[in-house]
Amino acid sequence: MKRIGILGYPLSHSISPEFQQAALYHHEIKATFHRWEVTADDLNSFFETIRDSNFIGASVTIPYKEKCLDLVDEITESARLIGAINCIVNRDNVLVGHNTDGSGFIRALKTKYGFEPSDKKVLIIGAGGAAKAIAYSLIQEGISQLTIANRTITRAEELAQRLERNGLKINSIKLDKQTLVAPLSNVDLIVNTTSIGMKNGPDPQHSPIPPDLIPQNAIINDIVYNPIETPLIKAAKLKQAPTIGGLDMLVYQGVEAFELWTKTLAPETIMYDAAQKALRS
Ligand code: NAP
Repeated sequence: MKRIGILGYPLSHSISPEFQQAALYHHEIKATFHRWEVTADDLNSFFETIRDSNFIGASVTIPYKEKCLDLVDEITESARLIGAINCIVNRDNVLVGHNTDGSGFIRALKTKYGFEPSDKKVLIIGAGGAAKAIAYSLIQEGISQLTIANRTITRAEELAQRLERNGLKINSIKLDKQTLVAPLSNVDLIVNTTSIGMKNGPDPQHSPIPPDLIPQNAIINDIVYNPIETPLIKAAKLKQAPTIGGLDMLVYQGVEAFELWTKTLAPETIMYDAAQKALRS
């Protein structure tokens, strides 16, 4: 039997198996989507066991997105620039690492919401792994302005420096109420990439932006997907601002991965519905 799976540790929270298996069933592809919960000590030997013709590929999640860069045979140019992979494709026994986090984020924005990033002003809250992939992809799309706000300012500065090699001047600021006032007053898209608001995360009850500062005319995109409606999304809805939840990015990074593995158009709606059902159960 052909195999695909998700690699990470721990994996109990992951809903990728549910929505990827739904897509495989839909296209009658005879493959099983596995949960590969592998400890750091077993990671190298795991890579030896997957190398055969029945292995189609894998999603890679926390904490291995960076570690796996060295364990695959090739990486794409965008994965190299982002510095992480979240998808492995077995191309005739050559394991190729891709990054579909950023491209999936962009595809959700464009196809589901009709938002074209080109020439737009963007504020990204957070400077971790997800921020890196999203910022890189937005810059590739030709945004005109980027501010990165983070609790640890040095991390925002480091990310800005790394990304500025792509040509755009980036403003890095500390994440606090005072410094957010100016960037929030003139922005088209705000993306929360911190874990603030995440169930069982460091600060599940709060919004990363004080609710009274949320602008009405910018799109508020929270990539946290559990809960589906985070404190930020709830606060933005109260302000009647347009919102995008994290489930879209999660599903669309999976849509892109599915298409790389199977070379078949992914059933986006079926995957989204299966993901929503899995999260609610
Ligand atoms: P990460 O690399 O660990 O980065 C975490 C970020 O959150 C950092 O900027 C960190 O700031 C900030 N942060 C954490 N706790 C905070 C707090 N109490 N107050 C202020 N800032 C805080 O994690 P990641 O991989 O980027 O993931 C971040 C979030 O995105 C997670 O909730 C994850 O589930 C979600 N995510 C969603 C998708 C999707 O497909 N929808 C994909 C990837 C990630 P410091 O630098 O100051 O520590």
